[in-house]
Amino acid sequence: MKNVQSKEPIVIIGAGIAAVYAAESARKAGFDGRIIVCGDEREFPYDRPPLSKKVLQEPREVERISLRDNAFYVAHNIELRLGNAADCIDRRARQVVFADGTTLEYGSLLLATGSSLRTLPLLCPEMPRVFYLRRIADAVALRDALPNVRKLVVVGAGVIGLEVASVANGMGIDVTVLEAGPRPMARAACPTVCEFVVGRHMQHGVNIRTGVTIIDVTEISSGYRLRLSGGGTLDADAVVVGIGVAPNISLAHSAGLEVCASGVCVDGQGRTSDEHIYATGEVAFHYNARIGHAERQENWHHAVAHGEHVGRAMVCSGPDYQEISGYWSDQYDFSVQSFGIPIGEHDVVRGDVGSGSFVVFHLQAGAVKGVSSVNASRDMRTGKAFVRTAAKVPAAVLIDSEADLTKWRAAEGA
Ligand code: FAD
Ligand code: NDP
Repeated sequence: MKNVQSKEPIVIIGAGIAAVYAAESARKAGFDGRIIVCGDEREFPYDRPPLSKKVLQEPREVERISLRDNAFYVAHNIELRLGNAADCIDRRARQVVFADGTTLEYGSLLLATGSSLRTLPLLCPEMPRVFYLRRIADAVALRDALPNVRKLVVVGAGVIGLEVASVANGMGIDVTVLEAGPRPMARAACPTVCEFVVGRHMQHGVNIRTGVTIIDVTEISSGYRLRLSGGGTLDADAVVVGIGVAPNISLAHSAGLEVCASGVCVDGQGRTSDEHIYATGEVAFHYNARIGHAERQENWHHAVAHGEHVGRAMVCSGPDYQEISGYWSDQYDFSVQSFGIPIGEHDVVRGDVGSGSFVVFHLQAGAVKGVSSVNASRDMRTGKAFVRTAAKVPAAVLIDSEADLTKWRAAEGA
């Protein structure tokens, strides 16, 4: 136990999901000094997944997405300093300097700065009727604009682009999605899930075009005329861009910490190349003992689990991080869930894809290393247990909808 007795503060930069869970975890681990969570956004720390879902559909939803209420911060004696970005880290003085010129000294510092949106120069966020989605203000602006949009173009068929497309379609808007790659949700979903998702969008009348980029944009009276690679144009009243994110590494980089394009490099405890500085969540290129190498994850479950792990490790080190994470995505009347790897060497489908309820097990060297599902939470639970133990369940059993997987779960000790 290193920090428990210490009164030197834990300072956390970023007031997102990983930050809040880390602060709570450090307190639970017995740290009794000051914990200060410092965010550049003005809002109380909030949950991001609803921003591309209910917040776009229900006017009051934005009031319900705080991660914790004020009583929580008071009860855990966690200080919040909001609306003030950290500008630089003085590692020799163990001090953070903020945009308003104030400073904070730390005993341990945690970087939980998340990611920033990748942007398109032709459709930058400052342009009218062009929307990006990461923060509350982005979601509110889009929510307020949607009722007046007739033709929407969504650039990027990742999870966020497709969630927005389904919401807009539900409001009667004519939606076209433009994807640069060969298939939608390519990073997040296996071909079977992807095919199902595309099929549902087509049934609802959303046009998804792959292998297309925008090569020119002209303003017209109703919005924008987009010139597409491969020829042709498309008019839109409004455009939503969801083309991925990049980790916010600049603070760490300018402080001379080890970073790479995938994030701030940390070990299994979340420690950076400076023993007093840690990083967690989406910004961290973190070592995972289960897979034996470093990776970066961009999902809610990881932000929570890694935040909790690193918050604890800042107080008392334990085993290295070894959680498996996954994501969910809600579109129309279905929910995609994925846990572990989203695509295997060999993918095995259980259930009827056409029925809209099925599971895909992702196998590697005969072991279940990932599971994805659409509207199939019971089999998903069993699948997660298989992934946790890398169960070697025969493909013939996984495919057989009549076979009772829970028996195999017991046999595998999963
Ligand atoms: P963030 O939540 O990005 O928080 C980082 C915070 O640090 C931000 O508030 C940022 O402004 C702040 N910050 C950055 N630099 C500084 C600085 N210098 N000084 C002070 N503060 C700073 N995941 C799922 O699994 N399922 C979903 O359905 C899902 N839906 C999503 C929908 C949307 C619209 C978005 C944007 C994300 C969604 N996610 C989803 C992903 C999930 O929300 C993220 O993985 C998670 O928010 C990452 O948490 P984090 O704490 O690492 O980073
Ligand atoms: P993704 O990386 O999932 O998808 C972006 C897509 O846009 C990719 O298919 C990408 O193709 C494509 N693309 C890139 N450049 C262009 C271009 N110029 N024109 C057309 N298409 C392009 O990012 P998202 O923006 O959808 O999501 C990012 C964030 O969402 C993640 O960081 C995570 O925090 C969050 N998230 C959201 C979830 C949800 O909404 N349910 C679930 C989990 C995470 P290519 O890959 O070829 O570049």
